[in-house]
Amino acid sequence: MLVLDACPLCRTTLSESAKSCPSCGADMAPWSDIAAISESYIGNARELITEGELEKAEAIISRLTQLSEVDPQVLAGLQLRLALACQDLGTARGLLDALSPADRSFLMEQVVELEQREALARELYNQALTAARRGEYVRGARHMEICVRHFSADPALWELKLKLDLKCAYYLRVYADLRALDHLNARPAAWLQLENMLPPV
Ligand SMILES: [Zn+2]
Repeated sequence: MLVLDACPLCRTTLSESAKSCPSCGADMAPWSDIAAISESYIGNARELITEGELEKAEAIISRLTQLSEVDPQVLAGLQLRLALACQDLGTARGLLDALSPADRSFLMEQVVELEQREALARELYNQALTAARRGEYVRGARHMEICVRHFSADPALWELKLKLDLKCAYYLRVYADLRALDHLNARPAAWLQLENMLPPV
């Protein structure tokens, strides 16, 4: 359980066992409860990120930001882990400076690794685009299959993948591509009814 190290009202330093503030006399019990609740929220959010339950984790993290007793460095660590899990590089980079030293080197490595995966995906996308323009659809589809394994958060990648999978009549993959676009809330309007036009698989 988390122990308050300072009075939330007057910031006087507290001893570990203080039931009330020696300076302003405030009862510390409710504040300790809030701290304990925050701590369990933080644990829950970490678990949900590990399990891939990113929407639930995001809901908890957004609630944590409203609790004043949450350490901003701990919160930044959580937000960055969520951003990494969502492959949101912009948000992740923006949070690096707000981390605790203990988190920084570990999470910095993770950000660099994700940057490398994004760069590789970008390269495969370009190769697939070149292949598609030459009419080499099977080759392009193969590039895109590998591409989205490295980086899956950019709708443009899924759009090219879907076009190539359609050209190759890989209909099972087309369904999966549409699900990925829906998951990103990024299905182009032209493809809203695409399932109705696909042969049954
Ligand atoms: Zn006090």
